[in-house]
Order: sequence, then structure tokens, then C-alpha cells
Amino acid sequence: MKLYNSLSHSKEDFVPHEPGRVSMYTCGPTVYHFAHIGNLRTYIMEDVLEKALRWEGYDVKRVMNITDVGHLVSDADTGEDKMLKGARRENKTVMDIARFYTNAFFEDCKKLNIKRPDVVEPATNMISEYIQVITKLIEAGHAYLAGGNVYFDTSTLKKYYVFNDHDEEDLAVGVREGVEEDQNKRNKNDFVLWFTKSKFEDQALKWDSPWGVGYPGWHIECSCISMKHLGEYLDLHCGGIDNAFPHHTNEIAQSEAYLGHEWCKYWFHVHHLNTTSGKMAKSKGEFLTVSLLEEKGYDPLIYRLFCLQSHYRNNLVFSWENLDNARAAYEKLIARVASLDGTAGGSIDGDTMAPYKTRFQEALDNDLNTSLAITALYDVLKAGEMNDATKLALIESFDMVLGLGLLDRAAALREKQATPAEGAEEIERLIAQRQAARKAKDFKTADAIRDQLKEMGVVIEDTAQGVKWSLQK
Ligand code: AMP
Ligand code: ZN
Repeated sequence: MKLYNSLSHSKEDFVPHEPGRVSMYTCGPTVYHFAHIGNLRTYIMEDVLEKALRWEGYDVKRVMNITDVGHLVSDADTGEDKMLKGARRENKTVMDIARFYTNAFFEDCKKLNIKRPDVVEPATNMISEYIQVITKLIEAGHAYLAGGNVYFDTSTLKKYYVFNDHDEEDLAVGVREGVEEDQNKRNKNDFVLWFTKSKFEDQALKWDSPWGVGYPGWHIECSCISMKHLGEYLDLHCGGIDNAFPHHTNEIAQSEAYLGHEWCKYWFHVHHLNTTSGKMAKSKGEFLTVSLLEEKGYDPLIYRLFCLQSHYRNNLVFSWENLDNARAAYEKLIARVASLDGTAGGSIDGDTMAPYKTRFQEALDNDLNTSLAITALYDVLKAGEMNDATKLALIESFDMVLGLGLLDRAAALREKQATPAEGAEEIERLIAQRQAARKAKDFKTADAIRDQLKEMGVVIEDTAQGVKWSLQK
């Protein structure tokens, strides 16, 4: 597989440290609010990457952290504590907030067919590991105490700006923007490993440490959680593009200073989902969630298809119109799969399958080109020489990577199409009753009938051509 590696700024052959095995780390969510669909774009594409590696035969171990220690609203070491902000907003404890939004995150993942990583580690579980690593960094001269906090000394490194081709000075200005200078830092890019001087009087989560009561910096959590579960050599580290600097840069700095050798070989960054009015951000408070998509009648897997239709290294613009296009494509796709009959016209034919599998794999191997992989799926549906049983076998195989629920949704559609005629008659009768009630301005009865239909799983739509109905998916 060829993957774009942010570290070398080029597409490279993916060669794991140990043949056949992949250690994969994912920066997990900050659990002070619901994940927005931008966050979930990143997790969808990482899920496809993991599944593609498994599909190609790798034994993958994937680890994700849950950021439940307050990390700051600004990516620099300043701003308000995000967890505390969530707790205040909802009048709950920080741990309640963390538990609630961690569960909500995995619920969203389930709806989007995102597999749960093999290991999920809350950052608050790892305090003794942070202390051990920070102690060693101080002993080795890579970290220093100043004003009560422990800082990583970036001047002890040969190279710091690993992800950027930009001028170092340009970046430094970007980091400083809107952020007051921390007078304790020896170098402008030094970052906090352990805070004891909280900016918040009521900092909720604090632990004892050799440097005083306090809490860890954000970056140290990912380094320690990764090293604990995946060892000294990490193959693949993933995150959204905004994590590259300073978060991943600082992870590399401290991990390699601690280990004394190269730590992670491949860095996979997913670019952002934006709205037509700009970036989607949790901290702005207004954002789109999976629940909102569902409320508006979209199957969450429509959003998954929407993400797969474009490459992970391009920014993606969300609009309802774009999502409607994805819905039309998804419904057509499901209808085509539903029309296949695996019991008619012969058994699975491995020889006809081979070139289609190759085409699909080539798409994945080309820096995870998911839109080409979907084209390979359409090629199967169009293939004249292939029987339905073979098509269904290929679709099932491809969907292990794509995760579009193709067979499940097609089965549900077939079932729906088989709804007995009497069922339809009953629905039509109720709709006619409701129309009559509305005409008579008896809105109470009309609403009651609407509710009754809703309970039967019937969605009705008042259009210029009259009432249309469908069964809820
Ligand atoms: P957070 O919960 O804020 O730590 O973010 C979770 C993940 O979502 C991280 O990998 C971020 O890089 C990623 N992310 C944040 N905003 C976006 C966005 N608008 N589009 C895609 N990914 C994002
Ligand atoms: Zn991280």
C-alpha cells in the first residue's frame, strides 16, 4: 500500500516495523461535547484505513486515547480548560461529562459503522506513566522546571518542525497569535509536560506529582498511551490535519527524546470538513451532529458515503445539497444491490472475481483512494459477465472496507418492498382519513392519525401532488 506520509511529505510504500503486523494509534476525541460530523470525517477515514489494512491481510492493533483531562481551548498552552467549560455549561462534574460524551461518541461511531479500536484508554488512567516519562525527560536534560510547571526544552532537538515545509519563524508567529507569551518558557515553542500553576482556580482534576499537585499537558498523553500499548516502535499515527502542529510535532519531540530513537514512521492526516461558511469547530458551540442528520431523516451511512466519495487529503465542503446528492447515490446503490438474487443463475465464480478485487485493492493502495474504490464497486454491479452470487460475494468483501452496510440495507429494502398489500391499504386508508380531518379543520384528529402512522413506521410528506408516504428505514 502506498500512503502519503506527512513526515516525508510524499507518498511512500507502507512497510511496518514487523512484517504482517501494524501498530496504529489514533488521537481520540476530547469528550466535553458531542463529536461534530467534521471530527467524524476523520474517524471514518481512519476506520477505512484500518479496515483496508486488515482486508489486505495485516494483523492490526489499534489504540485510541480519550482526552478526559482538561486540555486547553487553544492548541498552545493557553485558554480555557475544555472539560471544565463543558462541566460548567451543563452543571455536572468533569467525570460525568467525560463519561456521557465518551458514550455518545461511540454511539455515533456505531451508527457510522466505525469499528471500536482494540484499546481505548482514557487519559486519566495513565498519570503514573506520565510522571515516569517526564521524570526521565528531566533527568536527560530535555525538560526543565519553571514557575511551578515542567516544560519540554525544544532547543535540545536537532529538528522540531517535522511536518512543515514552512519557514520556522512563520510558524512560530502563527502559534503565538492571540496568545500571551508564557514568561517561563526558555524557547518560544517549549510546551508544558506538567502543570501545577493552573490558570483556573477550580481546576477539577489534579494529581500528586514530584513537582507538586497538578495535571499533565495534552501532548504527553498520546505519547505515553501509545508507548504503553504499542511499544517503542509505532507504525502509523493518525489524526485530523489540525493535530499535526503543535500536537503531533510535540508528541514526536518528547517520544523520541525519551526513547532515543525514531518513534513513528508513518503519519496519516485527514483534512477538514468545512461548511460553506467556514471551519466546523466544537469550541464555537454550533455544529452538526449525527443525531441532527438522523432527525432530518438521513441514514448516517449516507454521510459515510459522502465522506468516501472524496479523498481524505482534500478539504471537504458540507452542504445539505451535497448530502442530498449522496443520499440519491446511496439509495440507488442499495436498490441495485437489493435487485441481485444470489440464489439464481449459478454459484460464486472465483476467476471472474479476481480482476475486480485487484481493481479495488489498487484503489486502496493508491493512498486510500476511496472514490476509486467505490467506482470499483459500481464496476461489479455493471459487470455483464458475472452472475449475481459472485457479485454479492464481491460486494460483501468490498464492504468490509467501505462499511456502507450494503447487504443489510439491501435486505431491509427487499423486506420493505415485500410489505403485504393489505398493509399498504391500511396506510392509504389512514392517510385519507387524515386528509378528511384536515379538510374539516379537525387538526387534533389529523395529528393523532399522523402519530399513529409514525408508530407504524410510516413517514408522510405533504407535497404539491398530494400526500406521499414511505416506510421508515
Ligand atoms: P477533538 O475532539 O477536538 O480533539 O477532535 C477529534 C478529531 O477530529 C481530531 O483528530 C481532530 O484533528 C479532528 N477534527 C477536528 N475538526 C475537524 C474538522 N473540521 N474536520 C475533520 N476533522 C476534524
Ligand atoms: Zn494525540
